[in-house]
Amino acid sequence: MNVLDLFKLDGRVALVTGASRGIGCAIAQGLSEAGAMVYGIGRSGGTDAGEGIFQYRQCDVLDEESLSRVLSELVETHGRLDILVNAAGITMPDQMEADPITTFQRTLDLNLTAAFACSYLSLPYMLSGGYGSIINVTSIGSALGFPGNPGYVASKGGLAAMTRALARDYGGRGIRVNNIVPGYIHTAMTHTSYSDPELYSARAERTMLGRWGSVAELSGAAVFLASPASSYVTGTDLVVDGGWSAKGL
Ligand code: NAP
Repeated sequence: MNVLDLFKLDGRVALVTGASRGIGCAIAQGLSEAGAMVYGIGRSGGTDAGEGIFQYRQCDVLDEESLSRVLSELVETHGRLDILVNAAGITMPDQMEADPITTFQRTLDLNLTAAFACSYLSLPYMLSGGYGSIINVTSIGSALGFPGNPGYVASKGGLAAMTRALARDYGGRGIRVNNIVPGYIHTAMTHTSYSDPELYSARAERTMLGRWGSVAELSGAAVFLASPASSYVTGTDLVVDGGWSAKGL
């Protein structure tokens, strides 16, 4: 087999959360271009990717019933589920001071508990189909202390730990679970710091490549982790941060 064939996703079926915009949207598009049938979900009425690139369904991942409905529709229509990408996420640093405990809890509910629910509801379909790759979108904050946002940092650290736990529990049955670990990527989530020249430069200079990343730069990592090209990779981090985490002086 040609090595490039290992990256092909023809015949595979994927669900991507947080696909209305940003990183989830770019990943859904990338998986689709690699050959997968992709359903993307988000609360918004539509997706930035536009019609026809992947199937978009309106769904709040905090609503288990709605999530189960989308998964049933996907599997009834396309016969299987092979790939899950948990990209839906929030950050609420502005609300930390006024209401720290609610902010902490709400961030964990979405970034961690909902990712567990999506994984848990998807696993039976993956097990019966004989192929499974779960990809959790964490953050460089999963391992580093960032200021003023303990709920986000804790949620991403927890998500990284959940990846290792699920990889351990399901590895023996052929399911792989890994993290994509983005650095600073320009999306709606980071637009405030991207638009402020001082904050923009502080983040760019912290990397080895001297710049922010774009959402398109995460798609290749997702195709790799979703496909047989990564068949012996599980329980680990694929860091896409321009060298932020590895940089010394
Ligand atoms: P974004 O542009 O704000 O996108 C967040 C996505 O999550 C949207 O599609 C949003 O859709 C969806 N979402 C939020 N709440 C949801 C819910 N309850 N149910 C379903 N979908 C929901 O942010 P992004 O930068 O692309 O972030 C994507 C992921 O990457 C997040 O997990 C984030 O923590 C992580 N990340 C981002 C960066 C970065 O620099 N941008 C760095 C590290 C990690 P709706 O609003 O339509 O629901």
